[in-house]
Amino acid sequence: LRSLLHIPEDFTLVFTSSATEVWERLTQSCVEHQSLHLVNGSFSAKFHEIATQLGRKAHAVEAPHGACVRPDALPTGLHPELVAITYNETSTGASQPQEDYAAIRAKYPEAILAVDIVSAAPVVTLDYSLIDTFYFSVQKGFGLPAGLGVWAFNTRCIQKAEQMRAKGLSIGSYHSLLSLAKQAEQYQTPCTPNVLGIYLLAKVAGDMLEKGMEMITRETKYKAAVLYQAMENSPWVRPFVENQAYRSLTTLVGKTQVPSEALIKKISEKGLILGSGYGPYKKEHIRMANFPTHSKEHIEMLADLLENKTLL
Ligand SMILES: *Cc1c(COP(=O)(O)O)cnc(C)c1O
Repeated sequence: LRSLLHIPEDFTLVFTSSATEVWERLTQSCVEHQSLHLVNGSFSAKFHEIATQLGRKAHAVEAPHGACVRPDALPTGLHPELVAITYNETSTGASQPQEDYAAIRAKYPEAILAVDIVSAAPVVTLDYSLIDTFYFSVQKGFGLPAGLGVWAFNTRCIQKAEQMRAKGLSIGSYHSLLSLAKQAEQYQTPCTPNVLGIYLLAKVAGDMLEKGMEMITRETKYKAAVLYQAMENSPWVRPFVENQAYRSLTTLVGKTQVPSEALIKKISEKGLILGSGYGPYKKEHIRMANFPTHSKEHIEMLADLLENKTLL
């Protein structure tokens, strides 16, 4: 994973059971009082909800679904200990541009910058000098069975957890950031982990390394362009994310002109399985994964179907 994602040495890599677990651990170990969340859909909202449930003063700045929070919309005069960004808001298909990170960091220089890369990894080129922690789970872009989260954090996160512990505060138990980090020094884990998941992840990461991230990224961009183009030309579906700068490369969402069920059913007859809309958008959206496992041929076939005027 280090080679694949070019993760610097000062980031510790640990395993959890899911990305959702990381939301809780990060809050427990790195937020004493306040966090700030850029919320633009269901996943970013869930992190905010968890921080609230853990009794932190969790601030949310919201953007309309299909858009992203603009850095200039973030409040000044706030001193969050953690700022949570969702690289790829899977529920809406909106992706926060990385150009925003520097502005966010400049606004909150003391805060830990946390980036959820769940549905983007491994197709994501992070500037690690701008962020302190990131995490993903393996059932999206790595195409593996669910049940394994990967969490990376730098020394700023470790120092923050140490400060909280020194004050006598609870930073969590077996999966606290410090407990995970201490075990990771010996390539160990605090509890028996998902060993099969870790083994399979190593194999898949090895295959991806062999193919090369450059090639995987190029293919992902090509496939995304083919699908967005098809949606622009389709009588059945339009891209939900209007601003091209916010369009996700890996989880594409379309707003359907017909009940989404009809389109999903028709396309399933051709052997391709589309996702329905997330949550409240179930009936009016389709969601298309564009992960490394999805071949160019299948994506082109899907594009042809979406553009077919006599499909329905
Ligand atoms: C799927 C997803 C999660 C949750 O992942 P789990 O492995 O179910 O915990 C979190 N964030 C984003 C953006 C996701 O797409």
